[in-house]
Amino acid sequence: MTINHLTVAGSGVLGSQIAFQAAYKGLDVTIYDINEEALEKGKERLQRLATIYRQEIQTAKSSYSDQAHNIHYNKNLLPNLDDIFLAKVDASLDLVAQLPDNIRLVTDLEAAVQDADLVIEAVPERVAIKESFYKDLGKVAPAKTIFASNSSTLLPSQFAQLTGRPEQFIALHFANNIWQNNIVEVMGHAQTSDETYKQVVAFAKAISMVPLQLHKEQAGYVLNSILVPFLENALILYNKEIADPKTIDWAWKLGTGAPMGPLEIIDIVGIETVYNIMKNYADTNDDPKSTHAKLAKMLKEQFIDTGHTGKTVGQGFYTYTDKK
Ligand code: NAD
Repeated sequence: MTINHLTVAGSGVLGSQIAFQAAYKGLDVTIYDINEEALEKGKERLQRLATIYRQEIQTAKSSYSDQAHNIHYNKNLLPNLDDIFLAKVDASLDLVAQLPDNIRLVTDLEAAVQDADLVIEAVPERVAIKESFYKDLGKVAPAKTIFASNSSTLLPSQFAQLTGRPEQFIALHFANNIWQNNIVEVMGHAQTSDETYKQVVAFAKAISMVPLQLHKEQAGYVLNSILVPFLENALILYNKEIADPKTIDWAWKLGTGAPMGPLEIIDIVGIETVYNIMKNYADTNDDPKSTHAKLAKMLKEQFIDTGHTGKTVGQGFYTYTDKK
């Protein structure tokens, strides 16, 4: 089965990006979210993504125009390459303008998945929410539908039985800002079928992602096994008031040549997601004095309760005028 119809559950930071990229690559895309208010926010995210994609394509167009006169080729033997390039760019700009209206947004789960070849779940990183979502999804999705979780830190085996179709369940983990950070980690659990694995790898390639194939389950995949401890240690330094955010980020950037520091990354990921990860760890340990519990408390009080949830709202560890 080729995946043509995609449903994305959750129109938040990652759900909107996955939906937009898949629609850009020609798939038929539906977004499901819990209520109209959530979908309104989802629509705003799609409009913001259209602006970002338009800017990226415009950059290609202007940089091509700047360089084009330096490209020498035989126009008798080759068609006019300028026209081909510019036609492709203009078609892409037209497509991007239409995408926010082409993506269906619905609050009825059964209607959202009725044609779905693949459902990608991008609901909040809370075990109870995901459990209840998979129970409901398993009841209403057609037999053909593959389910994939975009969870950052939870294992597919945790939810596999609840789906009612463990062999058609897998984790597909995208990185934030997928139009440029175009990896997707593909991770099955013990019962995921080879066929499911192959189909989602093909899907990832079809939407211009680079599939990174994991052989076994690992909480946090490859990327977050490295990234989460890194971000957590920066939060510990901040919470202990060892240094201010800029100094913490400078230490990393100037010391290693990396383009971004950990707190800048947290602002882009979104503070709610980082809070959810810390809270999950704290709840698993069930120790209110644990480091994770302290970090979760700090993130809630200083950032979430004040509405400073990261770059998309213009304020997190830093203040932003460009919220993209
Ligand atoms: P988010 O908070 O931005 O969005 C979550 C969305 O899910 C919201 O639109 C919310 O209304 C919706 N939602 C809540 N309950 C729901 C339900 N029962 N059914 C359907 N939708 C529901 O979260 P996010 O950052 O997009 O993260 C979503 C998932 O993707 C999480 O599992 C997270 O770990 C993972 N992820 C996030 C990032 C990141 O950088 N933000 C990167 C990779 C993976």
